[in-house]
Amino acid sequence: MSETKAPAPSIAIVDANNFYVSCERIFNPKLEGKPVVVLSNNDGCVIARSQEAKALKIDMAAPWHSISAEATAHGVIARSSNYELYGDLSARTVELLGRYTSSQEVYSIDESFIRLTGTPGEVTATAREIRTAVKKLIGLPVSVGIATSKTLAKLANRGSKTAPALAGVCNLAAYSPEQLTTILTSIEVGQVWGIGARTAQKLIGMGIYSAADLRDADAVRVRSRFGVVQERVLQELRGLDCLPLEELRADKEQIQFSRSFSIPISTVHELREVLSVYTQRAAARLREQGSLARLMRCYASTSPFKEDHVTHAVSLAFPNPTDDPVEMYRAAIAALGPQLQSHRKYVRVGVSLHDFSPSDSHAALDIFDTDPAAFKAGAVLDAITAKYGADTLGLGLGGLRTNRAWTMRRDMVSPRATTHWSELATVHAR
Ligand SMILES: [Mg+2]
Repeated sequence: MSETKAPAPSIAIVDANNFYVSCERIFNPKLEGKPVVVLSNNDGCVIARSQEAKALKIDMAAPWHSISAEATAHGVIARSSNYELYGDLSARTVELLGRYTSSQEVYSIDESFIRLTGTPGEVTATAREIRTAVKKLIGLPVSVGIATSKTLAKLANRGSKTAPALAGVCNLAAYSPEQLTTILTSIEVGQVWGIGARTAQKLIGMGIYSAADLRDADAVRVRSRFGVVQERVLQELRGLDCLPLEELRADKEQIQFSRSFSIPISTVHELREVLSVYTQRAAARLREQGSLARLMRCYASTSPFKEDHVTHAVSLAFPNPTDDPVEMYRAAIAALGPQLQSHRKYVRVGVSLHDFSPSDSHAALDIFDTDPAAFKAGAVLDAITAKYGADTLGLGLGGLRTNRAWTMRRDMVSPRATTHWSELATVHAR
């Protein structure tokens, strides 16, 4: 007789290795095996490094102008950041991962949490399949960490990157409890996802040095000293899933643009800028699939790992289903703007569209309606940017004049090979 036990659901984090550098390498294979760095806006600082550049001890955030002479002498190749390319490859990866799961959280430009079902062996096999597919169909190398909670999945992901024998996939279910304890003992408490430097110092003061120490600490004591947020981290280390996936899958029923920022934004102006970009992208996606949306949701959140975590969320309905970015942007600002507090640091902002109908199912708008949607600004934007490039025309703060991101200095920028016909990769045959 066999005992049937439903396996605990697995949470996998799929994370692209050295993402920006890997994107650059897809269309420029000469960069393969070389030390490569990607620079921030205006070619300021190093924001991504290949493994080879890390080995040369090039620091993250090093100002390029002060290290360029020496770095170049060591063969380091610098690239300007090409967010259009990275964003497009990110979106393609998100779409591909969506085929393997019904539950997905796009955590950042190069990381998604996905839920996988099956026995541990099946889940590991799926992860390997995902890894092969992302490499083959998109060209990106990814690592997959699998566990029963997000926090453990993050730790597994680190393992998948550091132990070559794992070949990019680490499923903690494959380890015995003793082995797991050894692994967690080797991880400093400050390296656990969600434990900041200050909290780590206090934990060390309490004799909690490693991830294993935190897992085995008294939950009540941790809660009374640090609050429920840190207690949740402790429970997550025990394998309990306490941080539900924020599902952000862009499918036919919902379109979402949402990202965590590595550097928090705190001014209302920056938030408006982000919102305007997201509403434009969401509207473009909507028009691409030939839908109109009736509902929109927008939110801005501070770090969930901070005690004073807040999320400002608003849901609003359009008078008529729409695909117009002007209308969406105005509605988003009008609804969310007043809630924003400039003293807070927001790490995540999102816009989602819901309740779709086909765009051809609605009669022409009232001829007396002077609503901007009547001018079909979205369609005009699409037509112009498709012909002349995304830099030609933009809307509001997401437009060109006020957004330095589009006018910045980028001396070493690669072609936008996946979004512009004129910049396609050229293959020379001989
Ligand atoms: Mg990564």
